[in-house]
Amino acid sequence: MMAEHPESCIVCSKGNHCELRRIAASLGVGDSGLYPMPNFPSYEQMNPFIIRDLSKCILCGKCIRADHELVVAGAIEYNHRGFKSRPATLYERPLEESICTFCGTCVSICPTGALSVKNTAYVGTPDQETDSICGFCSVGCSLSMGVAGQKVVDVNPSKSRASVNGATLCVRGHFANDYLNSPARLTRPLVRSKDGEGKSIHAPAAWDEALDAVVMKLSAIKREFGAGSVAFIGSSKCSNEENYLFQKIAREIFETPNLVTLSYDTGQALAARIDARTGGMCRVNPLAELEGARVIVVVNADPGRSVPVVDYHIRRAAKKGAALILVNPWKIELNRWAGAWMRPDYSRPSGPMASDFLLALAKGLVADAGYDRGSVEQATDGFDAFYDMISRRNGIAGEAVDAAVRLMKNQKIAFVIGADTLCYPDGAQTADAVANLLILTGGIGAKRSGLFVLLPESNTLGAMDMGMMPDHLPGRVRLDDGGNIGPDMEGFIEGIESGRIRAAYIMGENPARSLPQPDRVAAALKKLDLLVVQDILYTRTAAMAHFILPGAAAAEKAGAFTNLEGRIQMFSPVVQPPGEAKADWEILAQLIWKMGHPEHYQSLEKIRQEIRRLVPMYQGLGSHLQGWIANNPKGGKPAFAMDFPPVSVALDAAHPFIARLSAPRHHLGGGTRTGRSERVRAYGDHGAVEISPDDCRVLGLEVCGKVRLVSEFGKIERSYVQSSRPPKGMAIVPMGENQNDAMGLAGLSGKNRPASFGWTVSRVGIEKI
Ligand code: SF4
Ligand code: SF4
Ligand code: SF4
Repeated sequence: MMAEHPESCIVCSKGNHCELRRIAASLGVGDSGLYPMPNFPSYEQMNPFIIRDLSKCILCGKCIRADHELVVAGAIEYNHRGFKSRPATLYERPLEESICTFCGTCVSICPTGALSVKNTAYVGTPDQETDSICGFCSVGCSLSMGVAGQKVVDVNPSKSRASVNGATLCVRGHFANDYLNSPARLTRPLVRSKDGEGKSIHAPAAWDEALDAVVMKLSAIKREFGAGSVAFIGSSKCSNEENYLFQKIAREIFETPNLVTLSYDTGQALAARIDARTGGMCRVNPLAELEGARVIVVVNADPGRSVPVVDYHIRRAAKKGAALILVNPWKIELNRWAGAWMRPDYSRPSGPMASDFLLALAKGLVADAGYDRGSVEQATDGFDAFYDMISRRNGIAGEAVDAAVRLMKNQKIAFVIGADTLCYPDGAQTADAVANLLILTGGIGAKRSGLFVLLPESNTLGAMDMGMMPDHLPGRVRLDDGGNIGPDMEGFIEGIESGRIRAAYIMGENPARSLPQPDRVAAALKKLDLLVVQDILYTRTAAMAHFILPGAAAAEKAGAFTNLEGRIQMFSPVVQPPGEAKADWEILAQLIWKMGHPEHYQSLEKIRQEIRRLVPMYQGLGSHLQGWIANNPKGGKPAFAMDFPPVSVALDAAHPFIARLSAPRHHLGGGTRTGRSERVRAYGDHGAVEISPDDCRVLGLEVCGKVRLVSEFGKIERSYVQSSRPPKGMAIVPMGENQNDAMGLAGLSGKNRPASFGWTVSRVGIEKI
């Protein structure tokens, strides 16, 4: 091996991590004088993520095993034999032309410099490595972050045994954290003022000056216009402690019910609905149970793009023989393992919807006596009424339904449901039908089953548990209809438009980019008497603010996130926040103090003590590096949902197609952070709209070109590709790309309302240009 290896250790990015060098040194094989036998396979670095210099390959096969066994992608395999043998893609094409997802798992696992990370402007051999939690999606992967000169320069899976991700990560966690070093980071408090020519600018200010002014102006607006005139938008990217303090400021200090996060409509409302249906008994679901499941049902979800590490769990389960059942309008990578695929059609008024298929499955299981009678009798009341209701339904039939019922019969089943399910016209029914199936198959509290809601952001669940919701107090205490329930995001924007809401404090969110109808949102935000934005990046929303308070990313502060499993994960700072930026909880603690509140939150532990006292689910917070939230300690009973009114989609001649807005794997949601990653930007434009061959034919579209998509809310122009992923009548529009202009197609209103489309689904017309 050493004879074949190039003498480039001094400039090799694996440097001190190289196992070959370590073992050679320990065996005394150094500058050996061996006859050199150089091997010169290709050097590949066209993609912005991974460099392959296979002259350093020692043919250990670890990358191939990682690719086949951990992430189950199948992108690489040995090619050639003997001296020429090398890991390669099909036809030895570059990685970007293969099915590689750039998860980087092979790179972390490669013992030599044959596979290495393509560096960005900030390079260097890390002089320290610290574990953290990924701040992107709700999986909450454990990371090991390499730091050089107070910059994060390298990210690998943590070696912690208790991690959710093991040796894997996804493209975002592995490569997109370079956004931390973006020049758009906020480093000082900024206050809107005028320059010498009277032009509006953001001028730097001292922390005390900015916070005093924020407190004074917020209080003055509350005094003049009442508590309902002030609103708070919290963040699913901020920690539990921060969301707890934020809702406390809103509820207790400003006495306003106006508090919400941007994930309310795309995750929290769904999770809360399912929590209520299952009696709070399904809060903790380790992903290990998913991987061990015999049958997995995926509903309205594309886990390979939204939560890739969950997707690896499903792929590994399928590889071990689990039956996979999909209820998805569009084709996903998991289709290659699917034993049954039911395809809802929302483009026709009479098309079967996801809830129709799920109800048909329940009817089939009841008819075949394939449900878990014992656990149904034990866990819930009301089975007889459910039996009557489901037996009387005219369920849809078909080969896929029959095949799925056969696979599900008398099995424990794991259900996976997409976060934006409530954005479909039958979203509420779909959520209820999944909860019914879970109860029916005895999946509550059982091994190798359960329900996994694929929430969008790192702390969507934690923010919800901390009461950062308009209709729930901390600890998922639902406010009843007589309670002081605040508006959802649509109500928040309408409140500003009507002049009822006059001041908003937005922490860690960018509604002017991430919400539907972003121009309407931006126009509303501009109307505010006071807009305070606390964030890490100078965003479109921040640009409109009167005060900008620079916060810190997860890698720069301590706190805890709760992932989609219900696992509470503590993290500590890896680097300092840039410039004068502060941890968000410190900013909020100072505000609380300046408001004259008796509590001084001088430490995280003080906040955690209060949470532990008030939120029984969070007894595990802060005592160990990891804890779990508790299933409902009050022992509520799951109950079958009985109400499934028919849903029909209204036809619209001008907008005959459905556009599904979904982020590609390298972006999270609207791409506010991933869009600032140098590597993701270098990856280029992946925003082509996917249109089915049938629709391309009808629209007179060639294999690729440009189209205009027009909805009742706005229009965008994009390139398109013919694709087998969307069904006839549906186009897939990537979010995150092109400043996330795709959101211009969706409407703020409509979600959660029967028979209408929510934030990630819209009716559109498609024109060739
Ligand atoms: S892990 Fe690295 S050294 Fe081993 S086969 Fe793959 S590229 Fe070669
Ligand atoms: S980056 Fe991931 S998908 Fe690509 S070859 Fe490596 S392990 Fe496979
Ligand atoms: S799956 Fe989610 S948490 Fe894990 S690395 Fe990717 S973005 Fe981060």
